[in-house]
Amino acid sequence: MPFRIWILLLLTHQLVSTVYSATQCQSHKHEPHLLCRMCGHEIAKGSSIIRKKSSMALSSFNLTVMNNDCLVQLFENGVPEQFDVFTVTQADLALSGKPTTALSWFPGYAWTAALCPKCGVHLGWRFEANVIDSRSGRVVKDSFDGLVLDFLLSEEYSNSLTKVPKLSW
Ligand SMILES: [Zn+2]
Repeated sequence: MPFRIWILLLLTHQLVSTVYSATQCQSHKHEPHLLCRMCGHEIAKGSSIIRKKSSMALSSFNLTVMNNDCLVQLFENGVPEQFDVFTVTQADLALSGKPTTALSWFPGYAWTAALCPKCGVHLGWRFEANVIDSRSGRVVKDSFDGLVLDFLLSEEYSNSLTKVPKLSW
């Protein structure tokens, strides 16, 4: 085979490989998640963070979590224990026990303890309430999850700094 053609084939192969690996990267790219600090399970997308302000919070501060504006509120339970809590629309959690409105940090909302579905460690609470939809006037179920800041890890943080891979088994 003439040398020029050989070089051309080699360059073409490299170009195809580069385009192929770029496509592969894109297809594997997924939105960063908040992980269970104990086992690395994906608990919630960064984009699911919402600001649910509560009058029961002892104090609060703003934090940027994976480019999302995050409201962190300090709450105290009956024990008493204190938790820095932020809220998401919905997380991947295993609920434990029955919902109760007793001592709820979000008045009108019943809470249920929420655990990591993989390792069972406590991560936060699900809050649920029947509310009247402002558009339709109908009663609809509203729910969101409160997660304890210290019990979670940002996926970006774990990848870039600790280089701890996501655990999967
Ligand atoms: Zn876990």
